[in-house]
Amino acid sequence: MSLQLPAAKTIIEPFRIKVIEPLAMLSATERSAALTKAHHNLFGLPADKVTFDLLTDSGTSAMSAEQWSAMMRGDESYAGARSYYRFEKAVQDLTGLTHIIPTHQGRSAEYLLMKALLNKPNMYVLGNTHFDTTRANIESTGAKAIDLPCEETHKPNSMDNFKGNIHLEQLKSFITDHPNQVALVIMTITNNSVGGQPVSLQNIKEAKAICKTHQIPFFIDCARFAENAYFIQQREAGQKNRTVAQIAKEVFSYGDGALMSAKKDAFGNIGGFLAINDNALAEEVRRLMVITEGFPTYGGLAGRDMEALAVGLQEVVDENYLSYRIKSVEYFGKGIESCGIPTVKPWGGHAVYINAGATLPQIPSLHYPGQAIAAALYEHIGIRGVEVGSVMLGHYNLDEGTESPAPQELVRLAMPRRAYTQSHVDYMIEMMGHLAPHLSSLKGYKITKQPKYLRHFTCQFEKL
Ligand SMILES: *Cc1c(COP(=O)(O)O)cnc(C)c1O
Repeated sequence: MSLQLPAAKTIIEPFRIKVIEPLAMLSATERSAALTKAHHNLFGLPADKVTFDLLTDSGTSAMSAEQWSAMMRGDESYAGARSYYRFEKAVQDLTGLTHIIPTHQGRSAEYLLMKALLNKPNMYVLGNTHFDTTRANIESTGAKAIDLPCEETHKPNSMDNFKGNIHLEQLKSFITDHPNQVALVIMTITNNSVGGQPVSLQNIKEAKAICKTHQIPFFIDCARFAENAYFIQQREAGQKNRTVAQIAKEVFSYGDGALMSAKKDAFGNIGGFLAINDNALAEEVRRLMVITEGFPTYGGLAGRDMEALAVGLQEVVDENYLSYRIKSVEYFGKGIESCGIPTVKPWGGHAVYINAGATLPQIPSLHYPGQAIAAALYEHIGIRGVEVGSVMLGHYNLDEGTESPAPQELVRLAMPRRAYTQSHVDYMIEMMGHLAPHLSSLKGYKITKQPKYLRHFTCQFEKL
């Protein structure tokens, strides 16, 4: 057989469907009514009014037949459940780390780690950019969370391969300038808060070396470790002949510990863990967790949850899956660009970000162009995304009546794992093409009611 066909251009889902969940199909009039009822805040919509729910990739994955089967094996013993030992082994095999502590989600792993580690005044935790719950858990102890992103991170037009990297010189100088005050360095892979941009192996290795010299623990926030390892394999010199599992293992070998929201790359609907090499630190965490999470062999999870995660952690390093995952996010990004709607590039691992500021120059930042796009995508197409601009990240002070905009006005369209098909994506792109010529007539919004903190979840809007 010497016949060689060219590689197919069509991206196929490397799975077939065994269980289905109907999509909510609504008319534009019905969506418009639902939006008005929710005071134009997409967080206020019941899920059965949403056709394509791209609000988040967290906890929204479709589980596999193997995961569902494993759930039936769930051992719900209070202490020492078989499910715990299977979970422990899966995390140890993946990370090579010693003490494996299950938690009910990522933020509880953060809470426990910070509580155990940040026990002196005037401490700092440095990172490539802390995720918002990480920052909240650091700062609730009185310590300070410092972001040290590399220079390429905030250049919207830079096509750099690793815009998620930490700034190594700033890391070094911050540590030298604050002797004995840096309690921890966290590397978040991929870098969620800057668009799911990846971190290179080289950057992780060098950051670890700096921490080692100064005897500072180096932890990996590994919510999307598999997507990050795939980017390393595809983009970093000398990595293309290694497997994603090998790369991930090397990444974890630089960590003194890791923390994970298993609602992302472990295909879990709930769950997380903390993995620690240091015996004394692990002991302290296990002592603390009994108060809030539960006994150390279940940590707020059911045995069946740990079973599903143990299987998910093995499935996620499958390169057919990762290739489909990264290519389909890229395909969505390209498609949106082809409608004349600018996006943040290069496209990251788990979401496409529409540049709403550039799309709607007629709407000033404090009339929330991101909100205008997000509302239009819902009203006309049935897509629920999330504004990541001045509503979510702008500074406001209700007492003084002041407000200043965020650096960028974006709308995030996050892709749940294994949930939507290529024809769903084609449909969304086609409809965005129909919507695009009308975007220039969109009007902004004003906020009519808002809480003091985290307003994007509950604030109410009125169309201007
Ligand atoms: C989601 C996430 C968290 C928090 O995890 P939860 O499971 O939502 O509590 C922490 N870090 C990163 C990078 C995340 O993406």
